[in-house]
Amino acid sequence: MIGQKIVVLGTGGTIAGTAARAGDNIGYTAAQVGVEQLLAGVPGLSGLVTEQVAQIDSKDMDCAVWRALALRCAHHLDDPGVRGLVITHGTDTLEETAWFLHAVLGARKPVVLTCAMRPATALAPDGPQNLLDAVATAQAPGAAGVLAVAAGEVHGARQVQKVHPYRVNAFNSGEAGPLGWVEEGQVRWAQNQPSALDGQAQSAIEKIANVTAWPAVEIVTSHAGASGRVVDALVRDGVRGLVVACTGNGTIHHALEAALLRAQDAGVRVVRSTRCAEGRVLPKPGDRWPASDLSPVKARVALMLDLL
Ligand code: ASP
Repeated sequence: MIGQKIVVLGTGGTIAGTAARAGDNIGYTAAQVGVEQLLAGVPGLSGLVTEQVAQIDSKDMDCAVWRALALRCAHHLDDPGVRGLVITHGTDTLEETAWFLHAVLGARKPVVLTCAMRPATALAPDGPQNLLDAVATAQAPGAAGVLAVAAGEVHGARQVQKVHPYRVNAFNSGEAGPLGWVEEGQVRWAQNQPSALDGQAQSAIEKIANVTAWPAVEIVTSHAGASGRVVDALVRDGVRGLVVACTGNGTIHHALEAALLRAQDAGVRVVRSTRCAEGRVLPKPGDRWPASDLSPVKARVALMLDLL
């Protein structure tokens, strides 16, 4: 029997940001307000259990914070009294954190990331509604696995992407569409979504529990006029894996490709993704490097975990 407790873990972001002037939606400092204080401002949420895991602008997210967050998630998810978790997070790297947690937690209970595009001091902040919606999602029948909730939409960890630098509905799931919508505290699941548990992730928390040195994995982009200089420099610097944000269906500029071959000869793992906003690389016979069906930033997370 699963309990009803919702635990809210704070990591910072714009949702916890403050500006000197209430009308300022961009000139603010992220990660200023504690998660307990954020909840205190939202009627109905003040009694929830909170924990401040980090207090950062998510543009600065790193493996150490991911590890700490995953361990705290695993701890709370193990508690039979806990129904689900909510994580407050910056929007910039929310999709990567979602994928990391999906990959290492194998969570059956809901783990709901939420965020805001406007600081807590804005004239019309989006954070309080997103928090309410995230808690409603964590409590909703059918909710499972790592989800992201913002602007009334529920997205899955695999598809969710930040697609706009300013507007309040900054996230989407591309061609797949959202998993559902939050309407006045109720989640309406999209009918074509068989399960919020995308790919039935397996728990790999023990794999990361004691890691202090993470394998260096970088993203390089193929583009008109690309060269291999960045790749050669990264190999000299000891990179272990490279994700290529390829053009189209996994194609790579010949100069970059030559450098990637040199990198491979030096023992570096190479994985292809596409820089196209939607779709995935369709592999074909004779491909030199494997194709990930993830976006470049999530493919980087996957390769890093694979190299551990
Ligand atoms: N830079 C902020 C962050 O990702 C942006 C945001 O939260 O909207 O923490």
